[in-house]
Amino acid sequence: MSHVDKALGFVRPAVRKMDGYVPGLQPKPGQHLVKLNTNENPFPPSPRVLAALRDATEGTMRLYPSPAADALRERAAALYGIGPSQVLCGNGSDEILSMLMRTFVNERDAIAYFSPSYSLYPVLASLANARTAAIPLPRPDKDADMAGLAVPSPKARIFFLSSPNSPYGVGFPTAWVARLLERFSGIVVADEAYVDFAAESSLPLLAGSPRLIVVRTLSKAYSLAGMRVGFAFAHDAIIREMMKTKDSYNVSGLAQVAACAALDDQGYFRKTRDAILDTRTRFTASLVERGFRVLPSRANFIFAVPPAGIEAGRLYEGLLGRGFLVRHWKTGPVSDGLRISIGADSDMDALLGAIGEECHGSQ
Ligand SMILES: *Cc1c(COP(=O)(O)O)cnc(C)c1O
Repeated sequence: MSHVDKALGFVRPAVRKMDGYVPGLQPKPGQHLVKLNTNENPFPPSPRVLAALRDATEGTMRLYPSPAADALRERAAALYGIGPSQVLCGNGSDEILSMLMRTFVNERDAIAYFSPSYSLYPVLASLANARTAAIPLPRPDKDADMAGLAVPSPKARIFFLSSPNSPYGVGFPTAWVARLLERFSGIVVADEAYVDFAAESSLPLLAGSPRLIVVRTLSKAYSLAGMRVGFAFAHDAIIREMMKTKDSYNVSGLAQVAACAALDDQGYFRKTRDAILDTRTRFTASLVERGFRVLPSRANFIFAVPPAGIEAGRLYEGLLGRGFLVRHWKTGPVSDGLRISIGADSDMDALLGAIGEECHGSQ
């Protein structure tokens, strides 16, 4: 046995046998691609964020940051109408999801989620040596169909509900989430990464439901994916327990400064969000005109199935060759479509041109 094999023998079997999370492709340095594959925001963060970062004093870096990000907790609490003790800040919402696993899930317990949804959930389950219950999510034709979706009741500790769902983009009505809380007896995590682009949030259910945890991020609607800031909103007794599972100084000082400034500029937030929603409407209509089936999106991306005769994988490769990076899954229930982030107007127009040429070429 080599020395390396001996060292590897100490790695936990659960880690040894799992695959790590595979993030959306990142362009190599110097590679120029229109990046529409990981639902980033085409707009820069609010100018107030950059000003706040410039003004951040030397102490922001030399000293440890506030362990619980107290100023940020208070900003978020005031904005969402809850108490600061109901807010937990994370190094991105991905870290919040890990904390949820550490707080609620023992080895061999199960977590549940719809399939398809965020592909990090099964990875977190593997890490925790937990089991998974993946419930098939049917594709609705119109937004109104979501209210009639069957409410599942799997045996699991946590139900991770990506709402709006990724990669389909469909949103779950608040009344539907209320029924999920009645039927399912475990912890319901409403992973609301895209909720700022949606009509409804589960937040109003928080007051009456200590089993509900709402997870948010500043990565999508607030253009801060590179800063890594996410939140959990829940009953303060639950937040107190989750707090024990976090790293001591989990949100960096600069991230706290940036996040406060971003939340403070609600005018900028609304303006950029509305621009993305307009582009989503326009882009969707253009794809439908070209024969695509586009699921009703409540997010800053759309899931589109190309017209008959055009294979999604081939279209993905063709677009990549033309400098457009979108998301395609080679296997599973979503392999027949593409997930396309809503970017700047000019990029979406250029993409439509490229799609037109690709579809023409293969017919
Ligand atoms: C993007 C995304 C996240 C992660 O966001 P970060 O805050 O950047 O870690 C979580 N859940 C879903 C469903 C997402 O799409």
